[in-house]
Amino acid sequence: MAARRRSALQAATFLTLARPVFRAVDFHASYSAAYRARRHGGDWSEHAEHLRELDLRRRALQSEMAALQATHGAACAECRGGCCTEERFRDSIVDRVLRDRSQPNPAPRSLRSKTREEHTDYPPLRDPAATLSAPPDYCPNCTPEGCTLPAEDRPIQCLAYHCKASVEPLSAEECEAGIRALKGLMSVMIETAALPRRAARA
Ligand code: SF4
Ligand code: SF4
Repeated sequence: MAARRRSALQAATFLTLARPVFRAVDFHASYSAAYRARRHGGDWSEHAEHLRELDLRRRALQSEMAALQATHGAACAECRGGCCTEERFRDSIVDRVLRDRSQPNPAPRSLRSKTREEHTDYPPLRDPAATLSAPPDYCPNCTPEGCTLPAEDRPIQCLAYHCKASVEPLSAEECEAGIRALKGLMSVMIETAALPRRAARA
């Protein structure tokens, strides 16, 4: 069956979720996770079972977002990975506890500035070999062939981010799939950030 043409409303919904809404959720989840972990004490390892479930959901949803690259990859190649420029800290505390609950960075992720807060090195984003081989001003994982990390190992924001050029070629079905996956990823972030409080109330 031929793919349906996406509507302007679908594209606008996708972009709104992928950018301002995602940023707001990212900010909320990152800072509230750090605050609740400090306030309610405890150890993220106490939430191992929940975190495992949430991480499985995150991985599946990131793969769904990555499937859209088959259609928007050409636009990203033409732009030469514009949103992968600069060595920013893309992984928030939510990414970190989902990937490795034994060593979460206790500081919330800075807003685009690596000088504002203390960060622990967190491989593979901060792998020295990757840093050395990265083109100047690009994320250490960026190569001319694209990102070296499997989609499910990238920070959530790497998969969530979209721009006008990347949404433009998507079909109606792809927009619907992307919107579903974006909402799912934001739910995972909010549920992860709520874990310390949920445990304290139990
Ligand atoms: S999502 Fe947009 S800014 Fe990022 S690489 Fe693709 S076209 Fe460029
Ligand atoms: S981890 Fe990959 S997708 Fe994310 S900014 Fe770096 S190169 Fe881009």
